Amino acid sequence: MPEGPEIERLRDELLILENRRLQEVNFTPTALKYERYGEQHDRLNLIRGRILEKLERRGKYLIWWFESLPALNHFGMTGTWIVEETIGEAIDSMPSKYAKVILDFEGGVRAIFDDMRNFGRFQVYSSEQNMLEGVPRLKTLGVHGLQERFPQKQFEQLLDLTVNRNKPLGEALTSSRVVSDIGNMYKSEILFVAKLNPTTTATQLSPTEKRRLGRAIRLVLERAYKNGGVTVEDLQFSSGGEQPSEIHYVYGRKDLPCPSCRSPIERFIQKQRSTYFCPKCQQLK
Ligand SMILES: [Zn+2]
Repeated sequence: MPEGPEIERLRDELLILENRRLQEVNFTPTALKYERYGEQHDRLNLIRGRILEKLERRGKYLIWWFESLPALNHFGMTGTWIVEETIGEAIDSMPSKYAKVILDFEGGVRAIFDDMRNFGRFQVYSSEQNMLEGVPRLKTLGVHGLQERFPQKQFEQLLDLTVNRNKPLGEALTSSRVVSDIGNMYKSEILFVAKLNPTTTATQLSPTEKRRLGRAIRLVLERAYKNGGVTVEDLQFSSGGEQPSEIHYVYGRKDLPCPSCRSPIERFIQKQRSTYFCPKCQQLK
C-alpha cells in the first residue's frame, strides 16, 4: 500500500500538470463497473475544462484542486498514476486493463490512474466543505511525518491522548489521527530504528524515547522518499529491482538476520497486520 513517501514521489511526478487545463476526464469502462465510480460519473462535468491549480497531499490522500473543486484521490493497495504524452495517439487508447481514470490536459499530456487491486478512489466534490463532510477522516488527520521539520510537540500531544496512550505503539503509529502518512510497512521500520518494541505503549515511554521515536519517523520516511518509495505490492508484480529484504531493516524479513545484531527477525500479527521486529534490539519494557 502506498504510504506517505510513495505518494509524495507520485505527486512530484504529477506536478507538471499543475496550471494546465483539464480538457477531458473519463472513467474507463472497467471503472464504471464499480458503484463508487459509476455514481461519480456525472460529477466529472464539474471539473471538465477547469485548471488544475494545485496538487495537495494530506496524509495518504492526494487532493487535485481544479480551481475551487477538489477531487479526492486515495491509492488503496495498488493505485498509481502514469503520465504520458498523447500527441498523435488515439484518444481512446487503453494503456492497461487496470486503468480507472483518464485525465487529458491541454498540451497533450495524459494522466492515467492505474489500480490493479481496485481499492483506490478518485472522487469529485462540489466544494471543500462537501469533501470534508463526505470524508470526515480528513478533519482528524494527525501530523505529517514527512516534512521539513517534524512537529515533535504536536506528535507527543496526539500520542498522549487517552485514546492512544495505552495502545501498543505498533497500532498507535498506524492511526491516521496520530501520524497521517504512516502505514503498516513503515511502522515496523520506524520502531526498529527507534529501538522500541511494537507492544510498548506511549505511557511507558520516557521523554528521550519519545524524541527518539519522532526522529525515527522523520528518518525512515525521508529515506523512503529519497529512495523513490516502494511498496511490497509493487515489487511482487515487477521483475527485477530490489527485493523487500534488501530495502527494509525488518519489514518482510522474518527469520533473516537483524541488520544490527544478526538475531533472527520475528513477525507477529497486530490488529490483523504483520509486524516485524528484532527481539534483541527492541526489547519488551
Ligand atoms: Zn537486532
